[in-house]
Amino acid sequence: MSKIVGIIGGGFSGTMTAIQLIKNAEEPFSIYIISEKEDLNRGIAYNSYSDHHILNVIAKKMSAFPDKPDHFLDWVMTKDPYKYLDKTLLANSFLSRNLYGDYLCELWREALMEAEKKNIQIVEINDTVASLQYIQHKISLSFKFAQKVEVDVCIIATGNQIPKNPRINNLAFYQSSNYFQNPWIKDSVLNVKSELPVLIVGNGLTMVDTIIGLKEQNFKGEIYSISPNGFNILPHRHTGMQYTSHIDEIYDGMPLNELVRVLNKHIKIVRNFGVSAEPIIDALRPLSHKIWRGLSKAEKAIFMTRLRHLFGVARHRIPLHIYDKIQKLRIDGKLHIQSGNLISIEEENDVIEVTYYDKKLHTSQTIQVSRVINCTGPETDLSKMENNFISQCIQEGLFSQDELRLGLKTNIENFKLYTKEGIEIRNIYTLGSNLKGELWETTAVNELRQQADSVSKVILSELNQVERQLKKNF
Ligand SMILES: Cc1cc2nc3c(=O)[nH]c(=O)nc-3n(C[C@H](O)[C@H](O)[C@H](O)COP(=O)(O)OP(=O)(O)OC[C@H]3O[C@@H](n4cnc5c(N)ncnc54)[C@H](O)[C@@H]3O)c2cc1C
Repeated sequence: MSKIVGIIGGGFSGTMTAIQLIKNAEEPFSIYIISEKEDLNRGIAYNSYSDHHILNVIAKKMSAFPDKPDHFLDWVMTKDPYKYLDKTLLANSFLSRNLYGDYLCELWREALMEAEKKNIQIVEINDTVASLQYIQHKISLSFKFAQKVEVDVCIIATGNQIPKNPRINNLAFYQSSNYFQNPWIKDSVLNVKSELPVLIVGNGLTMVDTIIGLKEQNFKGEIYSISPNGFNILPHRHTGMQYTSHIDEIYDGMPLNELVRVLNKHIKIVRNFGVSAEPIIDALRPLSHKIWRGLSKAEKAIFMTRLRHLFGVARHRIPLHIYDKIQKLRIDGKLHIQSGNLISIEEENDVIEVTYYDKKLHTSQTIQVSRVINCTGPETDLSKMENNFISQCIQEGLFSQDELRLGLKTNIENFKLYTKEGIEIRNIYTLGSNLKGELWETTAVNELRQQADSVSKVILSELNQVERQLKKNF
């Protein structure tokens, strides 16, 4: 009987791993691809409730294949109305995330045809994996609704988890129907009354998406955003500019404070010429895994507490035209970005009273809002997730977390997970966000397409080895 590869997660990571497995396969086998929502191929990012939610990376950098850099751009150029537009313009444009989802769906349809020709069985399971049992190297997956299945190899591509609830005095508020823990669903911006403001917790890219969503729904009221630093989101200002003078000064094992000193020195230099930190941070991208892995645990902890948000602001930027809209809202007094910490949230008769400590005013403030939307970013401490098979596996010791609890402890050479005892599990792999503790930068297409390609090659080489052994013994 041919081997079964189970992929938990049907977003970009799961889909592209399956596509790469099909593309590179030489022998028949089966793939079960499991997605809990109606988001097969698109995942959270490319299944948006608004066509105005756009990619935060230009089209020419969004190919799904590491060895075909123009693949997405060329695909776009075959579609109406893009085929009539200038290629250079499109290459440098921020296109709709839903369009990118269409691209992934089309890649998947093509892969299904290739799988049929190669005699590879594909089973799409639309359900939630509720538990994972590992007995004598066999992996058994139980679902919320469907019958359990057994697979020989499992790839955990579960991606972005919904944000955790911010710490406040009275947790009961989180049961309110006016609280949205998941900011990626359309309900979060529907039927909002304009008389009272809306509070968005967090002020990153998801805040921007939520503002776009609220405006699309004709919300005319004020919007508050509260986050610990209140940093202003930045636009892409120097797209395509390359500055690499600082790279020569970075060496293996460089202490964090030394690295920060070098970066600050170069940021000062470029600022004198009207250039922002943007190209300096972008140039670190190819080195980021090496730099992160070279830091000590203490340095990583310092980065997480003191530098993470600064780095995030420099890395996660928005297109200029969206930035202009956000600035206009601020100037018009419709958007207030506060730096502070939530203290309590009380609700009575659909009026929500939010008290927070304002870091600029050094005092607590209270605002009244009609809704609270959590845009603080995906939860990374997987052990904290309720009713989740990964947290169950962590509790049982089958999986372990990295030292900062940002993801799962994994051998990044072959993507295999480690047990609590530090034993490499021979047939369970992961990629994407679960590698955050190991690699830090591991959530964007730039990294995921390479990981999908690499993990599929590791798996195929091991499956082929087993196949060859079986044939030899026969
Ligand atoms: C809103 C948003 C916008 C983004 N925009 C960009 C961008 O413009 N450019 C870029 O490069 N990156 C972007 N990113 C980064 C993004 O994380 C990746 O590009 C990519 O989409 C992540 O894919 P993934 O498959 O790893 O995770 P996800 O897309 O989160 O997919 C995970 C999948 O796992 C499934 N799943 C989870 N748990 C279970 C379970 N127990 N049982 C069954 N199925 C399960 C989910 O249903 C889902 O299908 C964005 C991220 C977000 C959240």
